[in-house]
Amino acid sequence: MSVSHNLYIHVPFCMSKCNYCAFFSTACVNPDWKKYSDNICQELRFWATKLGKFQIPTIFFGGGTPSLMPIWAFEQIMGCIKDNFYVSQNCEITLESNPGTLDKEKLKNFVSIGVNRLSIGIQSLQDEELTFLGRKHNVKQALDLLNNAIDMNLRVNADFIYGLPNHNVKSVIELCKNINELGLSHVSMYELTIEKNTPFGKMNLNMPNNDTMAQMYTIIPEYLSLPRYEVSNYATPGEECKHNQNIWNGDAYIGIGRGGAGRVFLNNVWYEQRGNNELFEPISNETRATEKILTGLRTMRGVKLTDDVKSIVDFDWVNMHKDLVEINNEYLYATADGLLILDDLTVDLIK
Ligand code: SF4
Repeated sequence: MSVSHNLYIHVPFCMSKCNYCAFFSTACVNPDWKKYSDNICQELRFWATKLGKFQIPTIFFGGGTPSLMPIWAFEQIMGCIKDNFYVSQNCEITLESNPGTLDKEKLKNFVSIGVNRLSIGIQSLQDEELTFLGRKHNVKQALDLLNNAIDMNLRVNADFIYGLPNHNVKSVIELCKNINELGLSHVSMYELTIEKNTPFGKMNLNMPNNDTMAQMYTIIPEYLSLPRYEVSNYATPGEECKHNQNIWNGDAYIGIGRGGAGRVFLNNVWYEQRGNNELFEPISNETRATEKILTGLRTMRGVKLTDDVKSIVDFDWVNMHKDLVEINNEYLYATADGLLILDDLTVDLIK
């Protein structure tokens, strides 16, 4: 049987563009959803032909704003997946959503067709900050959606952004305390980064300096009631995002849709893949092992020292830098100090 692959399905439409957003997405309230879902199904059938009928452990609808999708389009895509692949019985099916695009009725419909995990872009618990970020929702709408999802027993994640121009360590502590009140079992905390071709990129904002940013990052696990399991992710043990964990562990996945990207495993060869079959090129085992180290070291557990990983790690360097990296139960992980300089460290420890 073919190797199992996780699926990432990209939905590139949003109500409008947020001020910080450099993702591949377009502001389009009324896209041609029929064309979109037909194209996604065509890509799915392409992979079924190329790889055979494989097992799917997780499906992640990411964006953009997947919650804008009409139910019939979601149903068509899920139907196509079920017709062409084996969907694991406990398959994690995540839908990314934005408040203001998903009422209780529509959420119920998504759930009835298979969604069992909802990720909500809450971003801030202050209306002025949401306006500054260019978000189209307010705090009340975010909390309404969150409560609807919790009432439906969904597994829920909420995304938040810290490091806004007015933020300091105290405001991040306050944010963590307010998040704790929400009863979430999974939270993603992203540092605001200013990208060139965004409205923020043209504004000359007075951002917190690097030291303050590092202090904010360090203080989060002290105040957030959920343990950190990846650089930006916090969860009750057992509630981690399986989709991302599989990818960080180095499992195979396919990116569907124009903004999707994947790593496909076929006849013992790894391939780099981009949606719409724009790119499908073999990559060496060494490159794949490097990628595993890059993503694995971002997790608190670390990267598993499998033979391919071991073959490219400079263990002399590791032994001389125990303040930055450690080995535990066949996993190589970054210490708290190592996490602060992860990019440099990764370059140094690969032979
Ligand atoms: S909702 Fe997300 S993808 Fe869409 S514009 Fe805002 S940040 Fe970008």
